[in-house]
Amino acid sequence: MGWQIAFNVFWHCGYEIFPKWFLRSPVALVLNSVTHHALHHEKIRANFGLYFNIWDRLLGTNHADYEERFMQETTAEPLFAKPTTTA
Ligand SMILES: [Zn+2]
Repeated sequence: MGWQIAFNVFWHCGYEIFPKWFLRSPVALVLNSVTHHALHHEKIRANFGLYFNIWDRLLGTNHADYEERFMQETTAEPLFAKPTTTA
């Protein structure tokens, strides 16, 4: 039960925890990302799997924008960027 709580916290945290290369790894064929599940909450009729991507791939319910959105999320500015000084 502990791992389910941990997965649910991460998958609903609103911040992509995987690096950009994750999407091109074999693990991404099976395991979902935070971005994948966030799209489920936004679009409702896609990305039904919370942990695994197998059924969404087999049934064609992966959202068409998933990969583009994942790349946007993983190339965004870091949450805690160094403060800039202006003169
Ligand atoms: Zn959810």
